[in-house]
Amino acid sequence: MKTIKTLNVKETIDVGFKLGKLLKRGDVVTLNGDLGVGKTAFTSGIAKALGIEDYITSPTFTIVNEYDSDIPLYHFDVYRISDSEELYNIGFEDYLSSQGIIVIEWADIVRDILPKSFVKVLLEKNITMHEDARLITIEFIGDKSKEMRWNA
Ligand code: ADP
Ligand code: MG
Repeated sequence: MKTIKTLNVKETIDVGFKLGKLLKRGDVVTLNGDLGVGKTAFTSGIAKALGIEDYITSPTFTIVNEYDSDIPLYHFDVYRISDSEELYNIGFEDYLSSQGIIVIEWADIVRDILPKSFVKVLLEKNITMHEDARLITIEFIGDKSKEMRWNA
């Protein structure tokens, strides 16, 4: 587990990009942290690493946005979902067994249906720091090899 400090949105996008370069088909990335902390910005870095050039916005109302590329990206925002069952009902299992990469904003809401291995990202603001500073903590749950490559 490692915490990275970013000082502006570009630096957060760059951390997402670095993680995106490590991702493989079927990987799941969970993003937690308050509204406006930078979850969608981080996701846009992942998308960029996958060669996706679309402008990335939170799928708050649609729950999932799909981006086509060599490895497709399924970008979830489950803020408006009340529990995991609701996510199952929109076919989450099919996304899990697909050949794409899944990113989930507000993933704590559905933590009981996450796979055994995933990348857990926490974004935080800290009132004692500069207004645009963020702390990004990345944990590789059940995936030691990715953790080693991240730290290399
Ligand atoms: P979330 O998806 O968590 O609600 P967004 O990524 O949509 O957050 O928005 C983050 C906002 O914070 C953007 O307006 C962005 O420009 C701003 N911001 C300022 N500093 C940072 C930083 N260090 N990292 C990420 N976003 C930042
Ligand atoms: Mg968002």
